[in-house]
Order: sequence, then structure tokens, then C-alpha cells
Amino acid sequence: MRKKIVAGNWKMNQDYQSGLSLFSEVVNMVSDEITGDQLVIVCSPFIHLNSLVQLKKAGVNVFIGAQNCHQEESGAYTGEISAQMLKSAGVEYVILGHSERRQYFEESDELLSKKVNTALKNGLKPIFCIGETLTERNASIHFDVVKAQLEKGLFHLSAEEFSSIILAYEPVWAIGTGLTATPEQAQEIHAFIRKIIAEKYGQQVADDTTILYGGSCNPKNANDLFSQADIDGGLIGGASLKSRDFTDIIKALN
Ligand code: 13P
Repeated sequence: MRKKIVAGNWKMNQDYQSGLSLFSEVVNMVSDEITGDQLVIVCSPFIHLNSLVQLKKAGVNVFIGAQNCHQEESGAYTGEISAQMLKSAGVEYVILGHSERRQYFEESDELLSKKVNTALKNGLKPIFCIGETLTERNASIHFDVVKAQLEKGLFHLSAEEFSSIILAYEPVWAIGTGLTATPEQAQEIHAFIRKIIAEKYGQQVADDTTILYGGSCNPKNANDLFSQADIDGGLIGGASLKSRDFTDIIKALN
């Protein structure tokens, strides 16, 4: 059975104290809401990570993720953070392939496939993001774009390795714009993604893969999105910065 997940991506927001307060509020508000096959993952800036690990509550399915890691194991890479450092600090997940990293930091599919390998080798579970731009959707090549991102970033993995991956479909035109994909648009491409995974790894692996939707997800639209057959939760940007909104989105998993 695949897991239902709501993950928050704080991006470059929250100073140290406000981040800790936000996290504590969320943990308190959701403690009684999350059931057995549901997970909440909070992906904060590096600076908060270990403190959030300390603030987690035993028995509550809230986990901590980073928003990036370096592709090399260690070495002379001033300013960078390794997968091993994250793991040793109690971090369990890492977002890789976010469109902001692809766009502003020129992260290529090839680089991302290396980051995926290094994350997995060090016991981190990648939340791997894919999604087309508005130009690509208007040109009706969004299926091809998403398929190529999957193939180049992930399909070198064995089926066992792939089973540690959480996917997030985030159409770039919906991120931070207030424009959400309709539940039907999102379902269509999520079903396509699952079909591509089934062709590569078999139906069982495809059925067990969690595929999140991201892009202007909020308490109002979360229910309709999460009730689609192939949408297993969300990757939340802006709305993860408000404890009430984030908690309401988590409740929409039920
Ligand atoms: P928004 O929810 O702010 O649109 O951001 C989505 C996102 O990029 C999550 O990774």
C-alpha cells in the first residue's frame, strides 16, 4: 500500500526562531490527525534541520527533510551540504529536482541523477520533482517533458532503489502563482506518470509509488486534488508557512 503524504517546502523562508515555532505549532495541531499510512514531512532550510529533529514527537508521523544536497560524498566544496551530513543530523528526506533548482541553479537531469544516487547511498529518501513549464504545456509536450525527466533522473535505478523515491508532479506554471492545475489535469498526468513507472518497473512498484501534487495547493483545493485516484497528497510551498493552512491541507488526506 502506498503512503499518503503532505510535505511542506518552506523554500528560503522563516528565520531560525520563527521556523522552530511554526514547526512546534504544526506538530501540536496534527498529532491527533495523522493516521498509520499517512506522513507529514517538513522540508526546512538547512539551518533549522537538526533543531526540528529534536522537536519531533515520538510516535507522531512527522519527519524532516532537506531541500537539496550535494552530489559528491564530501570534499572541497565550500558552502555545500552533503547527504551524509544530513543523515547524521537525523534528516530522512531530501527534495531533489525542484523546478527552482533546475531553473535558478541550472541543475540538469544528469546532475540530478547523481544527487539521487548520493542521497540513496546515504539513506536519504528523495522527493523527486518533475513538471512542465507553461510554454511546454501550451505546446502540448507536457507528457514528453515529464517522461524525459523521469527517465533521465531516475530510471537508472533498480526497482528496489526506486521504491525509496517519492515523486512530486509540480507544473511550473502553478508554483507560487495561485494557478492550480484542475483535479482532472493533475489526475491525467499522475495516471500517466504511474503508467510510465509500471512499464519500467512493473505494476506493483507503480502501485506502491507515492505521487504528490504541488503548485498553489491550499486548504480550499486540497480535498478535490487528494481525492483523485492517482494523487497521493501534496508538496506545499506558500501554504506550508501558515500552521493553520498547512494543518487543514493535512486533514484533507482523510
Ligand atoms: P506553492 O505551493 O507556493 O505554489 O509552491 C509549490 C512548490 O514549489 C512546492 O515545492
